[in-house]
Amino acid sequence: MLWPALVMAEQGNESVHRFISWQQAVQEQLAQHGETTVIAELLDGRLTHLADLAGKFPGSSAILFEEASRYGLLSASIRRVLGSYPFIPAPWLAGESPHTPPELAELQLIQEALLGVLQDGHREALIKCFRTWSTVHAGTFRSDARTIQLLKSYPGDTGTRSAADTAVRAGWGAHKGMLLVKDPKHFDHAIKWARVFWGANSMTSRCIRKSETEDDYVDGTDQEEHEIEVRTSDSLPVEHAAPTPVPEDGAHLRRFTMDVLSSFIEAIETAPARLYEKARQEVISGLVARAGRDLIAVLSAPDLWCMEHGAHIARMLVETKIYLRWMALQDPSIYREFQEYGAGKAKLYARISDELPVKARTDGFREAAEELKRLSHNNDVVDDRVVDTRDTFAGGKSIRAMADEAGLLDLYRQAYSLASGVTHSEWWSVETHAMEPCLNVLHGLHLVPSFSLSFGGNVSLASSWVDQFYMLSRTGLSILETDEDAVASAFAWLEEPDQEPPESA
Ligand SMILES: [Zn+2]
Repeated sequence: MLWPALVMAEQGNESVHRFISWQQAVQEQLAQHGETTVIAELLDGRLTHLADLAGKFPGSSAILFEEASRYGLLSASIRRVLGSYPFIPAPWLAGESPHTPPELAELQLIQEALLGVLQDGHREALIKCFRTWSTVHAGTFRSDARTIQLLKSYPGDTGTRSAADTAVRAGWGAHKGMLLVKDPKHFDHAIKWARVFWGANSMTSRCIRKSETEDDYVDGTDQEEHEIEVRTSDSLPVEHAAPTPVPEDGAHLRRFTMDVLSSFIEAIETAPARLYEKARQEVISGLVARAGRDLIAVLSAPDLWCMEHGAHIARMLVETKIYLRWMALQDPSIYREFQEYGAGKAKLYARISDELPVKARTDGFREAAEELKRLSHNNDVVDDRVVDTRDTFAGGKSIRAMADEAGLLDLYRQAYSLASGVTHSEWWSVETHAMEPCLNVLHGLHLVPSFSLSFGGNVSLASSWVDQFYMLSRTGLSILETDEDAVASAFAWLEEPDQEPPESA
């Protein structure tokens, strides 16, 4: 449909009347062949159908070209655009001009043609009505009485135009569906050419990003009309953004988190410990400490204080909370099982590292493999370490199921699954964080990787992580039933401003 779209971009919607005259003139000149139905169907505005028509009826290409010229449908600009595409169907429409790459003027006309159809539903309907007009003239059009009534005064009657536009567009889609049922290959030629069209566009003009056009913005009214540029070999403008500085109102977060972690450790170490069930204390304090260490590291890099780069922190905090609360509901042997599951995994990783050929092993590699063997806590003489390859330490029970049993399903659904989506690169997350639309309409509205980096430094997000970590440390202490006086003393600095927090590392 490129040709009618170009003509309407150049000459306005009125040009549709000249197209109808052209269809009628061509039908009359080809009437001698007798195949009225076939000829009418092939004059629907598609270049591929014009090529089919010329192939079926020798000499018809000259008639098609001459009549189109006579009705002013082949200006020099339009012929230059058509001639700029390689492998275009019905290349004789472009006239004698040899295939030449488009200049800026041609690219602008193609852009106007595409935008005209995308932005103007009436123009879209006019082009989609070509087949209807052609078959009405040939006497082969069939439809219900109401549609025929609507089309009789189309497009002249502004009162019914909108309804008729809708009927035309819907009918066009239905007709296309019908053709595909009859012959699934009907549009193969057209689709092949469409691939060439978009492929050629990608070579002749380059992508346009919003950041490049911001200077031209006037109230966002010209959002769709961006300067097309002929593709050159210029390098792309990569943004070298400086790292996000620590926001003033978030400067205390890292120090505060270190103080909370220190107080947590202090409370555990000053309270009487239940060393007869050490796995319990080791696992709970270990998980809380791990969460605090991760958070402290992230709090020194404000680039990570955003959903795109900080999702793993939110996910880890929620996961730790679910682990702690779920394990607290189980038999205390669960803590030992948690450790054994991990030791089995270390053995598995050690075995996998043994797969590397001996000559490829570096000193560092050998050291790491030895450490994994140590962490598997296997017996030196009898290999009795079981490797549990199920998904989790809880017999493969999912985190979701643990959250459900621990009454944290809402937290799981609202916080964990969303953060997981970011971590696992689910497409919605990649689309919103890493991609932006190319504003060059010649490129078919595709998405391109964004050059601009996420500006982190979201203090309220980072504060919410710190709050969660604080709650986590208190949860850990309460599950451990750590002596209340020891806890109160370790966290006294929070209650009384005069108290110094413990020495942070
Ligand atoms: Zn693009």
